[in-house]
Amino acid sequence: MSTSDVSDVIVVGAGIVGSAIARALAGTALSVTLLEARGDVGDGTSKANTALLHTGFDAKPGTLESTLVARGYDLLGAYAEQTGIPVERTGALLVAWTDEERDALPGLQDKALRNGYTECEIVDAAEVYRRVPDLGPGALAGLTVPGESLICTWTTNLALATDAVQRGARLLRNARVLHAEPADGHTTLRTTAGDVRGRWIVNAAGLGADALDAEFGHHRFTVTPRRGELLVFDKLTRPMVPLIVLAVPSSRGKGVLVSPTIYGNVMVGPTSENLTDRTATDTSEEGFDFLLSKGKVLMPKLFDEEVTASYAGLRAAIDSDDYLIDVDAAQRYVLVGGIRSTGLTSGMAIAEHVMGLLGGTDLDLEPRADLPDPPRMPNIGEVGVRPYEDAGRIAADPAYGRIVCFCERVTAGEIRDAFASTIPPADLDGLRRRTRVMNGRCQGFYCGAHTQALLEARGAEDADDVAAVR
Ligand SMILES: Cc1cc2nc3c(=O)[nH]c(=O)nc-3n(C[C@H](O)[C@H](O)[C@H](O)COP(=O)(O)OP(=O)(O)OC[C@H]3O[C@@H](n4cnc5c(N)ncnc54)[C@H](O)[C@@H]3O)c2cc1C
Repeated sequence: MSTSDVSDVIVVGAGIVGSAIARALAGTALSVTLLEARGDVGDGTSKANTALLHTGFDAKPGTLESTLVARGYDLLGAYAEQTGIPVERTGALLVAWTDEERDALPGLQDKALRNGYTECEIVDAAEVYRRVPDLGPGALAGLTVPGESLICTWTTNLALATDAVQRGARLLRNARVLHAEPADGHTTLRTTAGDVRGRWIVNAAGLGADALDAEFGHHRFTVTPRRGELLVFDKLTRPMVPLIVLAVPSSRGKGVLVSPTIYGNVMVGPTSENLTDRTATDTSEEGFDFLLSKGKVLMPKLFDEEVTASYAGLRAAIDSDDYLIDVDAAQRYVLVGGIRSTGLTSGMAIAEHVMGLLGGTDLDLEPRADLPDPPRMPNIGEVGVRPYEDAGRIAADPAYGRIVCFCERVTAGEIRDAFASTIPPADLDGLRRRTRVMNGRCQGFYCGAHTQALLEARGAEDADDVAAVR
């Protein structure tokens, strides 16, 4: 990396938010660098969430978050169609289990209206059971939210980062910012990959945003890592959960949901636990027991089937209950903080908002006329046709007929393609996020060794293939 280069803008953090901002900035003539501490894009909070495309029906009306979630819903929905990010429009049903919760439904419907969402309807218990017959006994009523949808968070992050790079942004991975030294005309970021300079810095560092903010002399917020743990059930359970079953929110949060996943499983979660350790993405016995006790009430039959995986993500919670987005034109510094539990949905709208705020500065944000088309992402969701079931594709390229991961039906062709892509995976976990390999019920027991060999050969199955991908 040349240390003499000064980018017009450096975006710190290649999660969904930073990638969306880098993509938007790279749509202009500005030179853009996207810096990521980890070895891959999308390896922070953006990889471990409940992966719902939210309508924003339950956001706090009047907040920036409410506006940007609603806008992000439309922007990401349209972008998903352009790029092939898997989306499944299942809708959601919020279920009341107590008289108090039933009494709260009209207020929630009104809140949805105040957020500009008009589609919610209150339904009686018979309708609740008609829609979700396997729900546990005792449901009293429900509120429908037809627009809530499933989306692939992994592909979303990768598509945005790929688009940014294809538009000309420079991506630097394994580049953790340790210090920022603002000076005349530019800031020098001291990173684990050397010094990087930029005229403007955008802080989209998620759980690390407060530490980076302090480097610019601010002490305006503290990030509290709020852990959310989730259980994933075997694919056999998918027919039991035709849509997203939400809890009535309380002062303690949104509660535990039961939802299909975009990969054909069912999940229960998340928990909500404030921690101090910003790396604590391990799951816990307490979290498992809590989800078991809650989930067995929601859908006892589900718990007759196997839990095949569990995972946890950390929300970047801050003291305020709204996003904290601020432009400091004097320092040429942008803070994008507190993107706690809706950033997957709102990421593209946050980018649009940041571009709007930068409009009055010395940055020339005129869109470029020569933009490449957005990338077309491989489909790893269950909604569309996957390569293993596409006879024409297999006939044209037999690698799509060679299954590597039998649980998730991932083929050698998809693994090869991942390594040949604009942002190839750095490790097994990155390969899993791009293909679903090792993500099934055996968790890599059967395909782990083969996948590791493919990782070492960068997806190539034989010497000819090695030559082709290198
Ligand atoms: C349990 C859970 C469930 C959720 N469910 C949903 C949902 O259903 N729908 C929804 O819309 N949202 C959901 N969210 C929220 C959503 O996942 C987040 O808002 C979003 O992923 C935040 O993206 P980000 O880019 O801000 O953060 P991240 O993805 O964490 O990205 C920040 C990046 O910055 C990097 N970084 C940090 N410090 C530095 C540094 N010093 N130098 C360089 N890089 C650095 C990190 O490595 C990281 O990759 C959920 C979150 C959780 C935890």
